[in-house]
Order: sequence, then structure tokens, then C-alpha cells
Amino acid sequence: MVSSPIIVALDFDDVSSAIALVEQLSPDNCKLKVGKQMFTLFGPEFVKSLVNRGFDVFLDLKFHDIPNTVAKAVEAAVKLGVWMVNVHASGGERMIAAAKDACASSNKPVLLTAVTILTSMDQDQVTTVYGNTNISDKVKSLAQLAYNGGADGVVCSAQEALILRDVLQDFILVTPGIRPLGSEQDDQSRVMTPRQAIEAGVDYLVIGRPITKAQNPATILQEITHSIL
Ligand code: C5P
Repeated sequence: MVSSPIIVALDFDDVSSAIALVEQLSPDNCKLKVGKQMFTLFGPEFVKSLVNRGFDVFLDLKFHDIPNTVAKAVEAAVKLGVWMVNVHASGGERMIAAAKDACASSNKPVLLTAVTILTSMDQDQVTTVYGNTNISDKVKSLAQLAYNGGADGVVCSAQEALILRDVLQDFILVTPGIRPLGSEQDDQSRVMTPRQAIEAGVDYLVIGRPITKAQNPATILQEITHSIL
């Protein structure tokens, strides 16, 4: 069976709600993402429990530190059996290379992705941090840097995916801000449907609330899956 491109974002403040959802999902139909909130609250044991249920887990902690520290953090993540980890591309090529080397300490392949520019940043904020550059140029140069450092891909908005797919073909694009037709936009501003994102060249769709807050998450997941076949 072809592995699912859908990553369900688990953003809960209690384990029992997260597990109640996970019990309605199957590793054949989706992967799971654990971010800073759940990791800080419930730690490695929670991540391991998802891995033990057979899920591919994306540990979304966006490491950003000196290369040695990031390498040690990635090594620790890899020991949990996760499928994907990520770092901030702005940590630089050496940091990314150190993270990639640490991924190799696993006995199974672990994907390394890099965040280019947080989608919450607008042009003014990007100018304050990076000087006089436009967002898409900066996204492209950070993605290139991530590629040069040995990352397997980037986490980017669907709009950025359109730009990046042209310049970096053999590179994984992971994209949040996905909303099936007719679902609430929540606090996401620039959204794409699952189908549009796949057509833009996205490899993995990160989808949270449209699935986690649904009356019947398994049905919504099935509908999304059908919409991208
Ligand atoms: O509920 P929703 O589908 O908006 O969840 C999207 C997930 O992707 C959340 O876990 C959010 O933190 C994450 N994310 C995002 N935008 C980014 C990076 C991560 O929405 N730029």
C-alpha cells in the first residue's frame, strides 16, 4: 500500500483526548505530528506510545542551536523511533549537516526537514530580521541552504511550495495551512485545499483541526484521502 501523505497534527492539552482520536485512526491512513505543546506536556513517553502503535511520527520541535547541541537533540529524537524531525534552516548549513549526521544514528531512515520562514511572519517582520529582501527570495535561499546542508526537505506554506517545486525537484515539501473545501479556516490565513496542495507539488499535508475537531475524524480523513487520489 502507498504510504499516506496526510500528517494529522495532534495539538491537545491532554493525553486522553489525543489517544481517543488516535484510536480512530490507522497507521495505514495517516501519519501523526507531535509539536512543542504536547512534547512539553507529555514528553518522550507520549511520542514512543504513538510509535509503538505503528504510526510514522513527525516530531515538530524545530531545533535551532549550535550544531553540536542540535545534533544531540536529533540523536535523542531518533532514539524515540520518529519518522521525521525538523530544524530551522536559519541555523545554517553546518547545523543542518550536523542534524543530518545525527539522523544517520538511527537503524531506520529518519527524514530531516527545515523550516524556511515561519508563515506567521509578514514582509515587515522579515525585513526587520533579514534586511531588505522579499519573502519568496528568502524562502528560496533558505531552502537552497537546507538542501546544501543535506536536509531531505522543508516545511513551507502551500504558496511557497509552488515556488520551491520549480527550483528544487528532489526535495520533500511538507505543508500546513491545508483546509478541505467547506471547512473552517480557523486562524490560518492563506490556505489551500488538499488537492490544490498536491497539485502544487506538496509531498506531505499537515492537517490539524479539520480532522481533530471533526465529529467523525476517520470519515473526514477518508474524504480527504479520496480527494487527492
Ligand atoms: O489545525 P491546523 O490544520 O491549522 O494545524 C496545523 C499544524 O501545523 C499546527 O500544528 C501548527 O502549529 C502547524 N504549523 C502551521 N504553520 C506553520 C508551521 C506549523 O500551521 N508555518
